[in-house]
Amino acid sequence: MSDSTTPHKTNTRKDEINGSHSPKSVVPIKRSKLVPTSSSSSSGASFLTRDLTDTPLQTRAASPLILNPPIDSDGLSWPSQGARQRIEQTPEEAKARELRIADAVKVILEELGEDTSREGLLETPERYARAMLYFTKGYEDNIRDVIKRAVFEEDHDEMVIVRDIEIYSLCEHHLVPFFGKAHIAYIPNKRVLGLSKLARLAEMYARRFQVQERLTKQIAMALSEILKPRGVAVVIEAAHMCMVSRGVQKTGSSTTTSCMLGCFRDQQKTREEFLTLLGRK
Ligand SMILES: [Zn+2]
Repeated sequence: MSDSTTPHKTNTRKDEINGSHSPKSVVPIKRSKLVPTSSSSSSGASFLTRDLTDTPLQTRAASPLILNPPIDSDGLSWPSQGARQRIEQTPEEAKARELRIADAVKVILEELGEDTSREGLLETPERYARAMLYFTKGYEDNIRDVIKRAVFEEDHDEMVIVRDIEIYSLCEHHLVPFFGKAHIAYIPNKRVLGLSKLARLAEMYARRFQVQERLTKQIAMALSEILKPRGVAVVIEAAHMCMVSRGVQKTGSSTTTSCMLGCFRDQQKTREEFLTLLGRK
């Protein structure tokens, strides 16, 4: 990977730039206990034809911002070992997982000084467990299922842009929501994607623990891998609860991240057309 895909971000407030949302380098997880495979690089192979069993966890990049693009047919390019267990769990295992989460939540509530036996909180741990499982359901999705037969051959080479895709995600540093709008554009190279799939793709990556920079990049890289288009641009504008509701309150501040690939990066004219269509210029 060159650094040409590094997302750049602009904060509406400069004093937040050094905050907890800067991308950090990631220590790779030891793979020795996992299923051995041939060393696979996820950059070259086509995920559309790859079998699930051929893309185990080893394809996860050591750092999403530097090494292999975060693209795998099983959607596990980022999440950990636990995500695979989640995908493959039986209904009984799923229930047991929910109860374990609920027990942990009960501990948290008690440590915070609450009485978990009072009426209002009786069902809260279970509810919270179910809610968190929903908020992170993206771990159970994968690109292949999301895209399913929605790539079409089409002799169209004008910019395709979908604006204002609502995204709800969780900040992985504070486990609180960040949410906002994603705008996705690409210039096809003989292949187009069903429009609703752009939103599905954004949803899949958003419903995981994220940092906004990575979310932005993952969407762009996925689209780039799926369509091999002439260019891809993704812009996300979001409000982070950890930012607006903690410390010095910064109500109304929002964070914008962008990832431009191909002709959006190389050609200023294309980039400007995109920003104009977004109403940003
Ligand atoms: Zn945060």
